[in-house]
Amino acid sequence: MIQELFIATSSEDALNLKRSHAKSVFYAGGTEINRLHSTVDAKTAISLAKLGLNAITDEGSYIRIGSMVTLQQLVESELVPQWLKDAALFCGSFTRRNMATIGGNLALMSDHSYLAPALLASRCRLLTANLTEGGAYSEDNIPIREYHAYHLQFSGTLILAISLSKDSRYVGSLRFATSSQNRASVTVGFGATLNSEQVIDHVRVFAAVHGSGVQRLNAVENAIENGELTTGSDMQLAVHHSVVGMDDYTATAEYKRYIASEGLSSLFTAFLKGGAR
Ligand SMILES: Cc1cc2nc3c(=O)[nH]c(=O)nc-3n(C[C@H](O)[C@H](O)[C@H](O)COP(=O)(O)OP(=O)(O)OC[C@H]3O[C@@H](n4cnc5c(N)ncnc54)[C@H](O)[C@@H]3O)c2cc1C
Repeated sequence: MIQELFIATSSEDALNLKRSHAKSVFYAGGTEINRLHSTVDAKTAISLAKLGLNAITDEGSYIRIGSMVTLQQLVESELVPQWLKDAALFCGSFTRRNMATIGGNLALMSDHSYLAPALLASRCRLLTANLTEGGAYSEDNIPIREYHAYHLQFSGTLILAISLSKDSRYVGSLRFATSSQNRASVTVGFGATLNSEQVIDHVRVFAAVHGSGVQRLNAVENAIENGELTTGSDMQLAVHHSVVGMDDYTATAEYKRYIASEGLSSLFTAFLKGGAR
């Protein structure tokens, strides 16, 4: 439970405060930090509210989304692509969408994440800030796949912004839950590009499976890029074989594998048909 709140005045200040306070967290929208039975266990919170990270800007070849941008801002922005608005709307509560931030959602990388499967499928990049061991401030620009693959190592990292390329990539995401207010059993994201020779490349296949984490299905990605999977039903079989699930209150393991494979198969089919990019 939070007992102490600092308002950081700069990114460097936020990182210094975090380093000097054990059991501290960055405070963005606070929706997970303050949730009953939250996964975040902290005594000290460092507010990011004064860092100017709440804007969405057009940077020419890419769109920059500050980490403090709320899910509702994503929905309302003319700059944000439809696939990301769709993912933001997976959060059915207007009140929560108005508080929850894109940075907070990504940092959690939860097994029922609204945004992670879609953002991972998009191949966006993250602008991050850190302190070196000696305490020097540094910023970096990393692929989101790296943030996902080494998530634990990034626990002290501050996400400043998300950078979305304006290329003509297909990205789609689907969420499966008994209602918009219930925990998702499975949320999937699929992204791919059709290059100038009409070859499918840069494929990304992700499934957030409740109880089993956010999974990258590398074998499925490779099989698509090698031309071994060419139809929705090929995709369905391959995902069913690769995805991991466990029985819990949201669904059985078998149902999770089934629904992940159905979802990814339908997104792949939409991509093959030239679905919205
Ligand atoms: C009833 C309820 C149901 C929910 N259901 C879901 C759900 O189904 N799916 C889902 O994805 N989420 C769910 N959430 C959690 C939450 O609403 C979202 O994940 C939200 O996007 C978190 O963002 P936030 O800004 O509120 O994060 P906060 O609560 O402020 O922070 C969450 C964590 O992210 C870290 N963090 C925040 N910003 C940054 C940053 N810029 N850089 C680095 N670390 C940062 C914090 O240190 C903290 O550890 C639910 C919450 C509630 C209350």
